[in-house]
Amino acid sequence: LPESIFAVLSKRLAEIRLESGARATMVGAAQALRTHECCGALIGRTGTAGDSEVLEAWPLPNRAEDTAHEYLIPADAVRAVEALARARDMDVLGFYHSHPDGSTLPSATDLERAWPGYLYAVIDASAGAVRFWRLEEDRSAFSPIESCEP
Ligand SMILES: [Zn+2]
Repeated sequence: LPESIFAVLSKRLAEIRLESGARATMVGAAQALRTHECCGALIGRTGTAGDSEVLEAWPLPNRAEDTAHEYLIPADAVRAVEALARARDMDVLGFYHSHPDGSTLPSATDLERAWPGYLYAVIDASAGAVRFWRLEEDRSAFSPIESCEP
């Protein structure tokens, strides 16, 4: 397929549009921390078709005990960013974190701590790759979600 047609098709199939500034914030934080996991909130809007537009990434402190292997965003931090996002006419669509070992696959700990209804972005710190996931309703696994950048 010519590249332009492929771009149109992949945009139509994508459920997530990731603004380049949001991507730059996430990848920049991941690469700055290198051997530790960064984390934060995905801020944006959900369209009428259920597609998500990630407009901004808001860094949050990683409150895990072992930040080289896990991340933790406490409930009070989630409540605070939800209030801030609403005040700016946006929503908390989900959360991102990085993997220093170079993988965009969520870990068993990520699965244990995830909440249904949110998007989860995992950043491969070494390659600068971002992959989106959604927790299945029975919470048994994550499903990958297609994303594109406008
Ligand atoms: Zn993880």
